[in-house]
Amino acid sequence: MDFKHIVVLTGAGISAESGIPVFRSETGLWEQERIEDVCVPEALYRNPKKVHDFYNKLRRNLKDKVPNAAHLALTRLQEEWEKRGGTVTLVTQNVDDLHEKALSHDVIHMHGALRSIWCPRCDKRFPFEGDSAPGDVCPACGAPDLRPDIVFFGEMPYSMGSIESALRQCSLFISIGTSGVVYPAAGFVQVARSVKAHSVEFNLTPSATVSAFDKGIYGKASQTVPEFVESLLKGSYDPRSEN
Ligand code: NAD
Repeated sequence: MDFKHIVVLTGAGISAESGIPVFRSETGLWEQERIEDVCVPEALYRNPKKVHDFYNKLRRNLKDKVPNAAHLALTRLQEEWEKRGGTVTLVTQNVDDLHEKALSHDVIHMHGALRSIWCPRCDKRFPFEGDSAPGDVCPACGAPDLRPDIVFFGEMPYSMGSIESALRQCSLFISIGTSGVVYPAAGFVQVARSVKAHSVEFNLTPSATVSAFDKGIYGKASQTVPEFVESLLKGSYDPRSEN
């Protein structure tokens, strides 16, 4: 097996074809809301209702969304690679649930998840489906501080230790549908390179970090990712080819 340990990083672009808007585009979420109103810790003190309402809307929007061929291909890769003695660590910046709906396992949601709610007082998380509101009470400790389980700008992403150790062991790093401007995720390719892993980015057009990758494959993720997975599984992927 050429690439025993694989790390996959996914961003908003992998879910775009499932009907979940990306952040940075003309119709993207940041064109509708200002980051400082809904995605920084201070916003929770300034206008908590606006913050809760924003994530309630995103959570409701997940209900009818289904994974596309790119999510499903990654599940297939994870299953097949494990049967062959390898590993596929799936790290997502996405807060949607499409990797779970595609039945991938142990997905690392480094920026949190819409279908989870968090008590910053006792640090417990709970699966969550409905709408949240300021003052919602934690079922574990009773504090009225429950908030969406989302990592805001300026907060530490989740599971950085596990991600870093997976990156340090990987022989292939793949980044799919991410603009490469949000750190620390945008720096993962450099960690992978430092251990001589082969790296490939998938996007519609080259991302901000394209120069750090060995290779770029451009087009819709629902097409490029299944083709790539197929070539890996057949053993026909050539890291030296142009695309
Ligand atoms: P981004 O919105 O900044 O960039 C999305 C990238 O995907 C762009 O580079 C775009 O060219 C590419 N893209 C769009 N459609 C594509 C397709 N069909 N195939 C391949 N690539 C495609 O997203 P990001 O880099 O993930 O941004 C960071 C933050 O946005 C993350 O922290 C994440 O939490 C958040 N976010 C998540 C969701 C979600 O959960 N689905 C949606 C929007 C934003």
